[in-house]
Amino acid sequence: MTAGFDIAVVGAGIAGASLAAELAAQGAQSVVLIEAEDQPGYHTTGRSAAFWEECYGGPDVVPLTLASGPWLRDNGFLSPRGALYIGREDDAPALDAFMERFEGSGVHIERLDREGLTAHLSGLRPGWVGAVWEPACADIDVSALHQHYLATARKSGVRLVTRAQIVGAERTEAGWILTDAHNERFSARVVANAAGAWADTFAALVGARPKGIQPLRRTVAQLRTDPAPPATLPLVLDIAGRFYFKPESGRLWLSPHDEEPSPPCDAAPEALAVAEAIARFETVVDWRVAAVERKWAGLRSFAPDRLPVYGYDPAVEGLFWFAGQGGFGIQTAPAAARLAAQLLLDLPRDAMTAELDAGLYDPARF
Ligand SMILES: Cc1cc2nc3c(=O)[nH]c(=O)nc-3n(C[C@H](O)[C@H](O)[C@H](O)COP(=O)(O)OP(=O)(O)OC[C@H]3O[C@@H](n4cnc5c(N)ncnc54)[C@H](O)[C@@H]3O)c2cc1C
Repeated sequence: MTAGFDIAVVGAGIAGASLAAELAAQGAQSVVLIEAEDQPGYHTTGRSAAFWEECYGGPDVVPLTLASGPWLRDNGFLSPRGALYIGREDDAPALDAFMERFEGSGVHIERLDREGLTAHLSGLRPGWVGAVWEPACADIDVSALHQHYLATARKSGVRLVTRAQIVGAERTEAGWILTDAHNERFSARVVANAAGAWADTFAALVGARPKGIQPLRRTVAQLRTDPAPPATLPLVLDIAGRFYFKPESGRLWLSPHDEEPSPPCDAAPEALAVAEAIARFETVVDWRVAAVERKWAGLRSFAPDRLPVYGYDPAVEGLFWFAGQGGFGIQTAPAAARLAAQLLLDLPRDAMTAELDAGLYDPARF
């Protein structure tokens, strides 16, 4: 038997969950949200470092981040953190270039000297001479946000189907017939590709040209340090892109900022990446690393220009892209999903999305 829907969203990570909830909120008739795993969020969404950082992803992602900020804050998903991009003597031009790159973008950043830097970061080793300070950076409660979207979707009538990896797709006159690995069939007029690291794999399945969306592995380790990181420690990022760290419940989350190309898979951390991260961290502060308590890795998936891909496929009828969320898919989710639902349903913009330039993210650009 084939279950019939107007829209099928494939992938129930933050992308698919937020899109399904927004589609239902904007009046979509019948929506099914289809997830391969037992648990939505098992892949990249469940493995993030959980920050909302105004500059992350570059100036063309800033509008999505800023448009999402007030909604995230008003609904209690953010808590203040602050961010420091730190640099050594040689990095002064990079710190200046960073300030210039974001000028006029609407983010709030200021330049700090070493004295300003040590006010935020105790135990700083010699050699680190300056920083860019971003006070608005916040932690995101990722799990609560994801659950919020899943619950909103369900309450609005969206059907969530898990353990349903789509393995077959056929285009008929009325739309699509999708078949999962257990031979269950779903028909839909429009299919939304929110398959994360599998976005290009899924595109190939429905006969579309892949966009070159490449999964890149990123590693995070949870450390016990002496001293323990103060709860007020900001997110600290290397301006040269070799690490970041932040406190989490008395522990430290540390990443070597790695970007190892990977096929789509259940990503696992490599010991070398963790060792590199610790070696780099030990050049920053004089804290002792007492233990690696936990480590994990996830895939951040980028289009060739590192901008997300939202909109209808230019060549395949009834295929909508919501992919390429890279390292900013959580912090941009509210505005991105609202915009995508409006594009998919051909609805006018609202206050949250009015200023967004959808052309930047259009799949037809490739
Ligand atoms: C270490 C790390 C740190 C990060 N930190 C941050 C951060 O601080 N802030 C931020 O905003 N972002 C961060 N990100 C990025 C963010 O996590 C991603 O942009 C976001 O989770 C992507 O969501 P998604 O729904 O596209 O992907 P996923 O969560 O991977 O969801 C895609 C889903 O599609 C399903 N799927 C695939 N193919 C099929 C199929 N054929 N049939 C059915 N289902 C299918 C998969 O099972 C998967 O569950 C980080 C990522 C990593 C790895």
